[in-house]
Amino acid sequence: MEKHDVLYRCALCSVQERICTSPQGTGPDFCPTLHSPKKVFQETLKEYKKEEIREFARQSSIQEAECYAKRDIKPFVALPTKPRVQEIIEFARKMGFKKLGIAFCGGLKREAGILHRLLLSHGFQVVSAICKVGRTPKEEIGIKEHEKIHIGDFEAMCSPIGQAKLLNHAGTQLNIAMGLCVGHDSLFFKYSQAPTTVLVAKDRVMGHNPVAALYTINSYSRRLKNTDF
Ligand code: SF4
Repeated sequence: MEKHDVLYRCALCSVQERICTSPQGTGPDFCPTLHSPKKVFQETLKEYKKEEIREFARQSSIQEAECYAKRDIKPFVALPTKPRVQEIIEFARKMGFKKLGIAFCGGLKREAGILHRLLLSHGFQVVSAICKVGRTPKEEIGIKEHEKIHIGDFEAMCSPIGQAKLLNHAGTQLNIAMGLCVGHDSLFFKYSQAPTTVLVAKDRVMGHNPVAALYTINSYSRRLKNTDF
């Protein structure tokens, strides 16, 4: 599809009754629901018509709804009930997946062990791969001594491509990313053959809850608004 140079800004939309959620809604002049080329959504729908994709999307949507209790009561009051790890287990079951992969950061080794055993106890086959798998020296990708964490020492690089290839080789049907670094996660997503969901987004400062920096943007994290930090 050719590139379109309009900068859509859903994140900055302040419309109350939005066209993307209500047939009577409206949208601003940067609204993609109203102003993107029709082709985009036509092509999107074509993808959802593919049997495998349709089933993946359908089960995701069912899983989403089931995360709230008392949905039949009006007016609807959001009563979320499920931690994400439960969602992953339920979704994997719905999809009939038998073999799951875990790509994790060494910093979360303990938690990865807990997840690995938990998934086993729910009847899945589980393959897990740590970030440092393969023990490839950082020099391999051109890292200089002063660019290492432990300057002057041997340092194995994080190898998200190695993690992906191991899980691909094992034939995992759904992969779970746990605490992969920024950029390493992107490479893992790029090379993983199975679809990947994220259980943990690494944030070394915020206890792996990166959105906390946004919640506190006007208080403890306000320095982030300075262009030089
Ligand atoms: S799709 Fe349109 S109405 Fe919906 S959030 Fe984006 S800009 Fe707003």
